[in-house]
Amino acid sequence: RKFIFVTGGVMSGLGKGITAASTGRLLKNAGFDVTAVKIDPYLNVDAGTMNPYQHGEVYVLKDGGEVDLDLGNYERFLDIDMTFDHNVTTGKVYQQVIEAERAGDYLGKTVQIIPHVTDDIKRRIREAAAGTDVCIVEVGGTVGDIEGMPYLEALRQFSHEEDEDDILFTHVTLVPYSMNGEQKTKPTQHSVKELRSIGLQPDILVGRSEDRLDPDVKEKIALFCDVPTDAVFSNPDVEDIYHVPLMVEEEGLDEYVMERLELADEALPESER
Ligand code: ADP
Repeated sequence: RKFIFVTGGVMSGLGKGITAASTGRLLKNAGFDVTAVKIDPYLNVDAGTMNPYQHGEVYVLKDGGEVDLDLGNYERFLDIDMTFDHNVTTGKVYQQVIEAERAGDYLGKTVQIIPHVTDDIKRRIREAAAGTDVCIVEVGGTVGDIEGMPYLEALRQFSHEEDEDDILFTHVTLVPYSMNGEQKTKPTQHSVKELRSIGLQPDILVGRSEDRLDPDVKEKIALFCDVPTDAVFSNPDVEDIYHVPLMVEEEGLDEYVMERLELADEALPESER
């Protein structure tokens, strides 16, 4: 089974979820069975109690699960029904760990974030991915948030427990413009530095910007962030988010992902997608 972990840098509301869902859609078009897990690092157990003015309307799944509306994007882009278990929240994880502690399941051990919380996070991801070819895991929030730390640590451990060619890290960042209209890479450099400081090296970088990234901007990002230039992709503003999969396909994101995950040989020929 393959896992694609999607993190975000610089700020939230960048289009991380749309980038993740678009990657999934392209893999589905290539004939793979794709699912997604959305991680919401808040302490709420679910989105049912949250003010819709803060996070947008609560999205209700077929099984009754009350979740973040990002799961609606995944259902529509991937044409799948998700379950409550495809939304991992800190509230759910801690509830499980504390109940297990009260039941004596830890046999007197000191219960800690590492390994007990991180183990529960990894278990949830593996269970949600069962029976599929590819699982896209989106970590909500931004790299560097305190709430997100146990998840990033869990993903770091996860990547060592699986084969190297089964895991891919995609990092979505903002590429803003300077006053004289140049695309600036510094925020991207800083957020990758932050990721690396916790032991994660991205394989793919996606720059959200008003327009496509200039070739020399891609080269600069590649150089500073230690990825090949063809691992840097643009996600420019579009009028209709359903155009994002086509746009990233044009830059070859699907081909690059399949090559890195060694899926290219099993993919449907381009004429049948
Ligand atoms: P994040 O996961 O980073 O918080 P989302 O994927 O939820 O961000 O996207 C945030 C908002 O930006 C959504 O309203 C989404 O429709 C919009 N959006 C995402 N990608 C694009 C794009 N390429 N062009 C225009 N709007 C976009």
